[in-house]
Amino acid sequence: MSSAFGSGVAQPVATLSQELAKLPGIGPKTASRLAYHILKASREDAVALAEAIVEVKNRISMCPICFNMTEQVPCEICSDPRRENTICVVQDPLDVVAIERTHEYRGKYHVLHGAISPVDGITPDKLRISELIERVKVDSPDEVIVFTNLDLNGDATAVYLHRQLAPLGVNVSRPASGLPVGSDLEYVDDMTLGRSLAGRRIF
Ligand SMILES: [Zn+2]
Repeated sequence: MSSAFGSGVAQPVATLSQELAKLPGIGPKTASRLAYHILKASREDAVALAEAIVEVKNRISMCPICFNMTEQVPCEICSDPRRENTICVVQDPLDVVAIERTHEYRGKYHVLHGAISPVDGITPDKLRISELIERVKVDSPDEVIVFTNLDLNGDATAVYLHRQLAPLGVNVSRPASGLPVGSDLEYVDDMTLGRSLAGRRIF
């Protein structure tokens, strides 16, 4: 059952394992375990999984304003007139979910899809930064909250954004400390996240 895929494994199973191994956090061993699990599952469950994958690819796209994942264009948050004219900048779509869950924030978002990391070849032009700057110029938000992760890359991104945005005359803030250093927002509990957001300070 835990045999690595290779000789002795039917081609379709090997292919499935290889595809699963492309997912984050899934090594070859886990991938073959999952592949065999799918193999043993009912036809109905297996097809439901396959269809769910196709469905997200068919129906979910990127909002052209905030670059969050959305079913409607522009996304629900960008098209909500009750949202305040502030922009909370985050690294990943999952960060939007985490912040929304705190009910501490009533503005809009901007998803960068990563953080600046020269070592990994992630330069500012690889992120949605020029789009953010354009957006700030057009919308003149009351505040831009840079809620990137509290680690080296997140901080470097925050400093870079502050340098780019400050000349435009917009208030740029960073959430208060109180979050564990090096933390990925996705894994911070709602209360801590909410408190950090509420206690944010202008750069
Ligand atoms: Zn949007």
